Amino acid sequence: MAIRQIRLDGDEILTKKCRVVKEITPRQEELINDMIETMYDADGVGLAAPQVGVLRRIAVIDVGEGPIVLVNPEVIEADGEQTGQEGCLSVPGKVGIVTRPNHVKVKAYNEKMEEFEIEGEELLARALVHEIDHLDGHVYTEIVEGDLMDVTYENPEEGEEEVNASLSDDKQ
Ligand code: ZN
Repeated sequence: MAIRQIRLDGDEILTKKCRVVKEITPRQEELINDMIETMYDADGVGLAAPQVGVLRRIAVIDVGEGPIVLVNPEVIEADGEQTGQEGCLSVPGKVGIVTRPNHVKVKAYNEKMEEFEIEGEELLARALVHEIDHLDGHVYTEIVEGDLMDVTYENPEEGEEEVNASLSDDKQ
């Protein structure tokens, strides 16, 4: 396993439609393992093959319940609506507001090319649609509502430092 370089927004490869996977070769097995490792290394909840420079319909997701491998995923049902913050490993340090379906059902194949269905709500639905968009050459920045914002880390220690800094500013 190895950590692969993540392509950044603006890289042409992220605008291309990925090809269907017909069989899982040892090379693709390695790709899937590398994608999982790369996603965890970058603290992401999902990663699609074009983000590591491979134009194949493969994505991995982990919303906190273990890794999900999606080969040739397709949305077969979508309903409801959610509007909220979304980020992408290809757009580091930024988030934006995106409206997505609140519930989706996806048909896909796993790393053994066994067909399965997965249903997701909220974050999982958002992640599924976001990753499948990548496979069609779309990045969320195309549909973001308003401007991209800088990620704010909810680290209590950092927060305290900021308060102290502003307090000392006031004294001057
Ligand atoms: Zn993304």
